[in-house]
Amino acid sequence: MDQKTEQRNPYPGWLRYVLIGIAMAFLYYWVFVQPMQPREPVYEIPYSQFKTLVNQGSVSEVRLTGLEIEGTLLTPQPIGPRQQKAKLFRTRLPSFGDETLIPALEAQKVKLFIEDERGKGTAVTLLVGLLPWVLIGVFFYFVYKRASKTLGGGLGGSGELKKFLESPAKTAGIPNVTFADVAGQDNAKREVIELVEFLKDPEHFRKLGAEVPRGVLLMGAPGTGKTLLAKALAGEAGVPFFSISGSEFIEVFVGVGASRVRKLFAAAKKNAPSIVFIDELDSVGRTRGTGLGGGHDEREQTLNQILAELDGFTGREEVIVLAATNRPDVLDPALLRPGRFDRHVTLELPDRKDREAILKVHTKNVPLADDVALDKIAAGTPGFSGADIKNLVNEAAMLAARNKREKVAMQDFDETRDKLLMGTVRTLAIQPDERHRLAVHEAGHTVVAYYLPNADPLYKVSIIPRGRSLGGTQQLPEVERHTLPEEYLRDRLAVILGGRNAEKELLGSVSSGADDDISKATTLARAMVSRWGMSDEVGPVDLRESEEHPFLGREIAQPRRYSEHSAHEVDNAVRKLILDAEQRALEIIKQHRTQLNTLVAELEEKETLDRPHIEKCLGAVTANKLEKISL
Ligand code: ADP
Ligand code: ZN
Repeated sequence: MDQKTEQRNPYPGWLRYVLIGIAMAFLYYWVFVQPMQPREPVYEIPYSQFKTLVNQGSVSEVRLTGLEIEGTLLTPQPIGPRQQKAKLFRTRLPSFGDETLIPALEAQKVKLFIEDERGKGTAVTLLVGLLPWVLIGVFFYFVYKRASKTLGGGLGGSGELKKFLESPAKTAGIPNVTFADVAGQDNAKREVIELVEFLKDPEHFRKLGAEVPRGVLLMGAPGTGKTLLAKALAGEAGVPFFSISGSEFIEVFVGVGASRVRKLFAAAKKNAPSIVFIDELDSVGRTRGTGLGGGHDEREQTLNQILAELDGFTGREEVIVLAATNRPDVLDPALLRPGRFDRHVTLELPDRKDREAILKVHTKNVPLADDVALDKIAAGTPGFSGADIKNLVNEAAMLAARNKREKVAMQDFDETRDKLLMGTVRTLAIQPDERHRLAVHEAGHTVVAYYLPNADPLYKVSIIPRGRSLGGTQQLPEVERHTLPEEYLRDRLAVILGGRNAEKELLGSVSSGADDDISKATTLARAMVSRWGMSDEVGPVDLRESEEHPFLGREIAQPRRYSEHSAHEVDNAVRKLILDAEQRALEIIKQHRTQLNTLVAELEEKETLDRPHIEKCLGAVTANKLEKISL
């Protein structure tokens, strides 16, 4: 979401808590401790004792307020009920008065102050008395402002506590966004399009007894349009959109998040059919009990409330819950269970064609000079997200305005792009030379997978960064495999090493690599040798170091039950398997250099290639393979 940045606080969270803590300590002292602790004790004494003290000449000054007398002794003397030594005392003049008092005071040269009976209420004392209360007021005002900012933000954006306290239904509307506003993302759109039908005519679905997914998890890098897609779904179906953001709960008082979730779902149900959208699910939905710095009660309560709401659906509500995250890996598994967020939709960074489409959407109302070529801009912005592109258009228009031009020119786009690339745009944006290497690497994987008889058929290859790794070659196993034949695994090893070898062959050197190919290959080869007996040197002996699954990568440490010699043999066999695979990969790459080059060029141009496209670049394959590809 783009508004979110404005709400972020400039200082770190812990600092706020420290400041609030200090303020609270001060207040506590001021209100409760200080008033009860006069600097010196004042003792109530009988009037008779007072007169005696005056006549002894022990009193230095006296303050008369109506019948109240307060006085100070020259030196501390044993006074008061327990005869403690003190200087300050208090007493009362008899209501009939005492004519001898003033002359006695004068005789002893006691300083006499006579104060107005209302003198206690002078402006200064009044102010001093009020100060703590004023401070409390100020404190609560700030708390109120903070809370209303945090709470109100998600509903209408204007941020008032009042808004929050009102039923959220009043602030939720039907978005005026449709799928036409979402450029590209065809896969993601396809996934949610059937939900539109359901929301439009739930009755029809119910009659057919169809199960409609309750929770949909939208995954993807920031700015890929997750919020946009959710809104478009609501807009397309013409149903109200209720949204809430996970990050809003972290700083609010305990219990508020949960109550807000409850209210939101209640309102959504009341206005069904409707959509609930939870943005930044990972900030509340992290695996429970792993919070740094102790219990995050608020987060956990909120998460539990979300789970309870999802489970509380009877199946008849026409409410669809969408949630967005860019860290699906940290989510609490409880969220992903069947009946909760069990349908997953991935939004990817746009490729060149999609970037052009997004540019079209966002330049619809921007006057463009004749020299502006959207396809060229798209080509020059690899790694930009939809939000980055929107930002690019916006900044280019501002630049043109600053330069007092009527139309936005290509030059504005170029300048803005360079500025964004140097500064704020995510570091995932790829530099041109890096991009070539990436294309070679991915094309290498692809070519090897394509020509090896037993590898999984190709699904897609891309040089767009996804998550933390760059690029990717995706293969679909044509059948779910339970047992893995040796030939398949050997081919798989070669495919994994294909990227590196293409770099070696075409660029003359290898790089640190776009992903963890070597580690993947080693894990796989080790499993082949030590668990599955797929090496002649070692034979079918269980020599695993630990219980590990080569694909899940989970390890359970176990004591080693074999000799140093065997360990050595395993290492050698693993190395041999890998070197063999590397040799095979290299051979294929050498044999199909022309096709590899074609593929590299095509990849650099289009950024993502799907199966038909790959086939076009690589030409005929063995009969065996063709059969698989047509599956
Ligand atoms: P996310 O929720 O994934 O972080 P948003 O949906 O908030 O991203 O995207 C921010 C803005 O970027 C959107 O409001 C939209 O203007 C623009 N945007 C992102 N993806 C697209 C897209 N595929 N087509 C058009 N605009 C997009
Ligand atoms: Zn690789």
